[in-house]
Amino acid sequence: MKGVIRLEELTRTYGRTVAVDGVDLEVRAGELLTLVGPSGSGKSTILRLIAGLDRPDAGRILLDGVDVATLPPHRRAVAMVFQDYALFPHLTVHGNLTFGLRVRRVRRADADRRARAAAERLGIADLLDRYPDQMSGGQRQRVALARALLRDPSVYLLDEPLASLDAPLRFATRADLLALHRELRTTTVHVTHDQHEAMTLGDRVVVLADGRIRQVGPPQQVYDAPADTFVAGFLGSPPMNLVPGGGVLGGDPTLTVGVRPEDLVRDDAGPVVATVEAVEALGSEAILLTRCPDGTRLTVRTGPRPGVGPGDEIRLRVDRRHLFDAADGRRR
Ligand code: ADP
Repeated sequence: MKGVIRLEELTRTYGRTVAVDGVDLEVRAGELLTLVGPSGSGKSTILRLIAGLDRPDAGRILLDGVDVATLPPHRRAVAMVFQDYALFPHLTVHGNLTFGLRVRRVRRADADRRARAAAERLGIADLLDRYPDQMSGGQRQRVALARALLRDPSVYLLDEPLASLDAPLRFATRADLLALHRELRTTTVHVTHDQHEAMTLGDRVVVLADGRIRQVGPPQQVYDAPADTFVAGFLGSPPMNLVPGGGVLGGDPTLTVGVRPEDLVRDDAGPVVATVEAVEALGSEAILLTRCPDGTRLTVRTGPRPGVGPGDEIRLRVDRRHLFDAADGRRR
């Protein structure tokens, strides 16, 4: 199977900023891999390096065993889709879809047929005569995806492809992307800073911070067993409660104790006493922002109608704790 990407000691610096810092990673054939991390953690740079839009300072990029570091983008079997679509504004959808094929000297009738097939697959066949400014963001993103399909690449690189879409459309397009990937099984590397996408859109997730990989694994596995306090605090919304020294969650000065908001459960016999400071009612659930007598703040996830308000005292039990080394933050 084609589409294996290997990054070895990949490094890219801009001036004094180390954007990508010795990244080792293998993307498996047919896998959908998601890169997540805060803004500036190096996600886009990794994607651009794989695409050939940027050059590494050190390290290797292997595509199916071949070092592509010196190949220009069009010689790499990759197709990149950007957040801002990057469509030609003066060309119709048809023109945008056939442009690359024509450059590659595909015959007009053949290019037409393939463009139409790609458009149909993405549900935009009735838009072939429109210009980009005559379409919604979602439609433009579909055109960009259809154009990527037409390159028939070994690897898709998606840079925040859903970020410009509003929430309902994002939801629908995410489902479409997943369906498309299941059908094509083409290796895909996808960048996002969105929690939801990180959890749902990928066989594995790579968590980055400061240009370095913190953890790689299936999303649920990373969520259930974060490798360090950074990953624990980054993946999950609201984030995990982290208490240095354990405090109200069970004291041990050598540890930082973590508890996910859903693992703090209202229980009149529970050992933790906390005062509600605010309630965020989210429709399907509510988030309680609480404070313990020693000043520790705890976020609690509850059902939609918790029946408490600011100033009320509640008791909590701790269903699951995560233990991290207080000194280096690593999972114990
Ligand atoms: P992310 O995609 O995770 O937001 P980037 O890969 O875009 O992060 O950026 C990583 C770091 O490299 C950031 O500190 C950013 O400011 C810096 N950087 C990225 N591209 C350039 C560039 N062309 N020139 C200078 N600094 C850059």
